[in-house]
Amino acid sequence: MILNNTYSSYIATVPALSQALTASNQYSSLQLEKAPSILEIANTAGYETWWFSNQNKLGGWDTPTTIIANQANHTEWINTSIGQIIRSQFFDEELIKLIDKIPDTSKKKLVILHTLGCHTNYHSRYPTSFQKFGNNNKTNHYDNAILYQDFVMKTLHEKLISRNDFKALIMISDHGEDPNIGHDPDRFRWDMAEIPFWISFSQNYAEKRSDTIAALKDNHSKAFTNDMFFDFLCGFLNIKDNPYYDAKNDISSDSYSRSEDDMTILGKSKSIKDAKN
Ligand SMILES: [Zn+2]
Repeated sequence: MILNNTYSSYIATVPALSQALTASNQYSSLQLEKAPSILEIANTAGYETWWFSNQNKLGGWDTPTTIIANQANHTEWINTSIGQIIRSQFFDEELIKLIDKIPDTSKKKLVILHTLGCHTNYHSRYPTSFQKFGNNNKTNHYDNAILYQDFVMKTLHEKLISRNDFKALIMISDHGEDPNIGHDPDRFRWDMAEIPFWISFSQNYAEKRSDTIAALKDNHSKAFTNDMFFDFLCGFLNIKDNPYYDAKNDISSDSYSRSEDDMTILGKSKSIKDAKN
């Protein structure tokens, strides 16, 4: 299922992830410092939680995310580089091997894989065997990175569906890119805010949660900003019985009621209505 009208709430890694992964969002007055993360909520609801990362653990862009990651029951960073440049000694497919560390039991689980994805610098995100679109400009590098990321997601999906405990794979980005600029709020273009968001779910999930699947089908082309990802995930994981969940923000609920008229990005400075203009 592809939710094909999804936007980054803020086209920079830390603010976008901080809101996507916590109860804080643009539409509520709850301050980030007081907002629980989806990991805290899932732990309390009896999920066992994992965070596997190929991002840097420490550094200006990474430390706030690491604070959230450390709330998982189990954490592992395969990437040991430190510093301001986003780099790793590994390509993202290495993360997939870590899935084997998770016992294939019926216990409820939430596993977050934090990839490097297609983040700048694009040419560092794929092995040379994925250099299909050439190597002479940033757009080519970005296209190669996307091609590789598709391969990573396909490989991950094949691994997950071979397990008995597979329920769903959800993919969402923190922000998009303009290959020639990157992602820079001062040089904003809508390409930087348009992001992928898709879900692959098992037959078992679809049968048990038919209301959720029906709502997603109804809502899949409605606009969504990724700061509401917390509410979506509470709904999708069936952890609605917590004071921070707001069905109005949950695109997997038939109560989802955000419209393009009231949705914004970049600290409310841009309206989603203008995205199509
Ligand atoms: Zn980012």
